[in-house]
Formats: sequence, C-alpha cells, structure tokens
Amino acid sequence: MDIQTKTDRKLQKEINELREELYFLKAIKDIDNHKRKQLEHELEIAKEKITTIGKIEKAQESDKLKSAFLSNISHEIRTPMNGILGFANLLKEPGLTGEQQQEYIRLLNESGERMLNLINDLVDISKIEAGLMAVEIVELDINEQIEYVYSSFKPEVEQKGLQFTFKTIISVKEAMLKTDRDKVITILTNLIKNAIKYTNLGAIEFGYTIVSSGTLEFFVKDTGIGIPKSRQEAIFERFFHSDIFNKKAYQGVGLGLSITKVYVEMLGGKIWVESEEGKGSIFYFSLPYVA
Ligand code: ADP
Repeated sequence: MDIQTKTDRKLQKEINELREELYFLKAIKDIDNHKRKQLEHELEIAKEKITTIGKIEKAQESDKLKSAFLSNISHEIRTPMNGILGFANLLKEPGLTGEQQQEYIRLLNESGERMLNLINDLVDISKIEAGLMAVEIVELDINEQIEYVYSSFKPEVEQKGLQFTFKTIISVKEAMLKTDRDKVITILTNLIKNAIKYTNLGAIEFGYTIVSSGTLEFFVKDTGIGIPKSRQEAIFERFFHSDIFNKKAYQGVGLGLSITKVYVEMLGGKIWVESEEGKGSIFYFSLPYVA
C-alpha cells in the first residue's frame, strides 16, 4: 500500500509537472500567436504607409516632370522659332556679303529642322496615344537600310569630328527582313541622332549581329557622356530628359527614346541600354527575323 501510494504520488507529481510545462508551452504559443498577429498587423500598416508615400512621391514626381516638360517644350518651340524669324529678318538687311547670306540661310535651315523634328515627335506620340499608329510590313534588305542610314548621317558625324562606322554581317540574299521600313529607319535615326548629340569625342558605330536563329540584334554604340545607372530605365519613358531638372545643356524634350521603344515593341522586339558615365553608351534593340 505504501509503495502504491508512493508511486501514485510520484506519478501525480510528474503529471502535474507535465501539465505545467504544457500550460507554459501553450502560453508561449499564445503569446507567439498574439505577437505574430500584432507584428503582421504592424507590417500591413507599414506596407500601406509605404504604398501611400510611394503614390504621393510618384504624383509629385509626375507633377515635377509635367511642369519641367512644359517649360522645356516651350523652350524647344521658342528657340527654333526665334531662330527662323531672327535669321529671316537678318537676311533682309541690305549690303550682306554672299558668305553672310549663306551662313544665315544655314542657321535658318537648322532652326527649321529642329522645329520639324519636334513637330514630328509630337505628331507621332499623339498617334501612338490615340492608338492610330499602324505597322506596315514590307520585305526589306536590312543591309541596304543600314547603308542608307550611314550615308545620311556621315556628313553630320564627320563635321563633329567623330569616327563613324557600321557593321553588317549576313549576306545580301539572307538579309531580307519582313518589317516596317519607316519604323526601322526612325528607330536607327533616333538612336544615331542621340549618339551624335551626346558624344563630343571619339566614335559612333552601329549595325547588327544574329544572336539566335530568329533574332537580329542591332546596336548603336558611342563614346559619349554616358547615362547614370539610376536613369537607364527612365530614359525610355515619355518626356523623360535625363537632364530635365538641370540647365538645358542639350536640346530635346525627351520623346525620341519613348517613341523608339514603342516602335521596337510594335515590331516584336525589345530595347535596352548599357552605359557608363563618362565612357559611352550602347543602345541595343532586337527584331525578329526569318531567314
Ligand atoms: P531627348 O534627347 O530629346 O532629351 P530622348 O528620349 O531621345 O530625348 O532621350 C532621353 C534622354 O536619354 C536624353 O535626355 C539623354 O539624357 C539620354 N540619352 C539618350 N541617348 C543618349 C546617349 N547616346 N548618350 C547619353 N545620354 C543619352
């Protein structure tokens, strides 16, 4: 009996201890659950706060971009307009030498071209926005287009003292592409114009390679000012001008690359950039190709 009681007591003690332990463990678990829920709630609130702040910052950024764009665009309209009117007036002056006349006419032309570029960009972006930009597929010899673009920019690049080369690889027979000619020319033109604009020393090279059986990869490479890493994505956005909040060191309203990106995507390709500040940039775009 004594032994029995002793064992019972021992057992009872053990059971009590276990119960306590269980109770303790349960309490910890409850605290854990409670704490977890509280933390989750706090996390949710923090996330919401971040999203709201993000939205406010985005709206502020977009407001800033819009006003910078408006001041930029009025500058871009006024400058060539003043050029056109100013040089036309100067041409009226009596007694100008032939050389002076030629110089004023050249500057008048330059202003007209700048104005036309802006108008073309604005018309294109409006068409894109309205969903009216269509793709006209034709069969075209890509090497011929590269040479055409090369000869149209050669004088301008050489006048700036830069080297200019192009690279084509596939043989004439294989170089037929089914794509939209005007868009391919505009894409190359926009990229080369930028390369010229943002390069003061060195060289510009463009062309393409075949990266896979179905894809041609085009490139436009320059040794210009380069683009900071933080802006390499944003430059493809509408109205983004990497120096938009600074002084107008370079002309332009930041439409060229966004139009270029839309065109590349319309033709089934992708566009991206690799760049290092102070060293230069390489813009790449791909186009589907059937041999
Ligand atoms: P824009 O030249 O009219 O400002 P783009 O859309 O063509 O507009 O280009 C957007 C921005 O990208 C430019 O303002 C410039 O800062 C940057 N950028 C484009 N191409 C180059 C380049 N080749 N080298 C350096 N910066 C470039």
